[in-house]
Amino acid sequence: MKRLHLISFGCQMNVYDGELMASAFKRRGYARSDDPADADVILVNTCAVREHAEEKVFSHLGELRRHKKTNPALLLGVTGCMAERMGREIAQRAPYVDIIAGARSFGDILDLAAAAKDGTDAVISIGHDRPPPDRDVSVRQDPYRAFIAVSRGCDHACTYCVVPNTRGREKGRPLDGIVAEVKELVADGVVEVTLLGQNIDSYGKDRPEGEDLHHLLHACHAVDGLKRLRFVTSHPEDMQVEIFDDMANLPKLCGALHIPPQSGSSRVLKRMARGYTRERYLDITHEFRRRFPEGEIAADFIVGFPGETEDDFEQSISLMHEVKFQQSFIFRYSSRPGTPSGIHFEDDVPLPIKAARNMRLLKTQEAISRKKHAAMVGRTYEVLVEGPSKKDKSVLTGRTRGNHLVHFAGSVDLAGELVDVSVTDFTPVSLRGAVAG
Ligand code: SF4
Repeated sequence: MKRLHLISFGCQMNVYDGELMASAFKRRGYARSDDPADADVILVNTCAVREHAEEKVFSHLGELRRHKKTNPALLLGVTGCMAERMGREIAQRAPYVDIIAGARSFGDILDLAAAAKDGTDAVISIGHDRPPPDRDVSVRQDPYRAFIAVSRGCDHACTYCVVPNTRGREKGRPLDGIVAEVKELVADGVVEVTLLGQNIDSYGKDRPEGEDLHHLLHACHAVDGLKRLRFVTSHPEDMQVEIFDDMANLPKLCGALHIPPQSGSSRVLKRMARGYTRERYLDITHEFRRRFPEGEIAADFIVGFPGETEDDFEQSISLMHEVKFQQSFIFRYSSRPGTPSGIHFEDDVPLPIKAARNMRLLKTQEAISRKKHAAMVGRTYEVLVEGPSKKDKSVLTGRTRGNHLVHFAGSVDLAGELVDVSVTDFTPVSLRGAVAG
C-alpha cells in the first residue's frame, strides 16, 4: 500500500483543499501516513498570506529532503497559495521538489504525481482553474465536526491580500452539491457543519435564482441528524442583516459570527480597500447584539498597515472595547508581492511598533475575554462534546454555540452529543464546568 503524508498550513480553506487531495489519493489506493519517513508522496499544502509563512515552508522542505536519501522514489510536492504565487521560483530555490500545484490547479494532483519522476524537473501546474477532486467524507480531521467550502476565490480586492491572485475570482458551488455533502457527512457521524467561503455573504451571486446564503442555510438546516450549523467568513461590505432572521428562525444555526474588521480606523479601511467604514461595521455588530444578546463575534485585525498612525491604532483598540469580541486573530502587516499595497505602499511602520501594537491588541482582547468568561460562571450552556481534551485526556472538551472552549468531567461516551454544562471557573482562553443536572 502506497502512503501519502500531507500537511496543510494556513486557513480552513487550505485544510479543506488538503482533505480533497487526500481523498483523490485514497481513491488511488494511498493510505494516510503521519510519518514523512514512511511516505511515498509528501505534499506540503502552503499559505502565502505572510512572508514568514512562506519562509517557514522552505525550511520545512529542507528537512523533508533527507527522506529522499532513504527513499529515492519519494515524491515531494508543494501545493496551495504559495505554489500558486511563486510557481517555478520554488523549483529554483528547492530543485529537489517534484510537484508544484497551485491553489487553483490542484485538481490535477494525481496526474501531476503520475507525471513526476524524482531527479527530473518539477512538474508545475499553476494559473488554471481546475475543478477540485471530489471529497471522500471519511477523509477528515474531526469525527463530529466538518467544514464544507461553498465557494472558491474572492471578488474583493483588499489591498494587502494575496487571495484574489492565488485563488482567483469567486465561484460558487451548486447548492444541491453542498447539501448532498452535508448529508454524506452526517451519515458518516458528523453533527456540526461549518459552511466556508472567503466571503460567505456573497455566496450565490454567480448562481441561479434561489441559490444564495439564505436558501443554503435553510437547505442545510433541514438535513436530519445535523445538530449544529455555522458559517464563516463574513464581510462587512456584503453582509445582509436579513441573515439574522435566519439565525433567529433556524435553531441549529449558531449565533456566532466571524466578521473581520481588520482595522477600527475608517482612514485605514479606505487604504485597505475594504469597502466599509468603522460606522458601517458598528451598525452591523450593534444590530447583531440587539438581536442576539448571547451571540458572539470573532474578529481579525491587521496592525501596522502602511501609514497606520497611533490614532488609527487607538481606533482599533476602541473598536475592540466597543464590540467586545469573543476572539480576535491579530496579524502584523506583511507586504506581499503582487498585491496593491505591496506594489504602491511603503511598508513604513517599523517592526518594533508593529510588535508593540500586536501585543497591546492581544492584551486588550485577553482582558475582554477574561471579563466575558467571568460573567459566564454560574450559568449553563449547550456544549457539543468533541472528546477528550488534547492537554488532559481525563477531561472532556467541547464548544458552546458562541464558540467558547469548555473543559469538564464526563464519560467519553458523550462525544458527539449536545450536553448542558454549568460553568464553574475560567481562564482568558477557556471555561471549566460540570455537566448540568
Ligand atoms: S475579502 Fe479581502 S481579505 Fe478576504 S479573501 Fe477577499 S480579498 Fe482577501
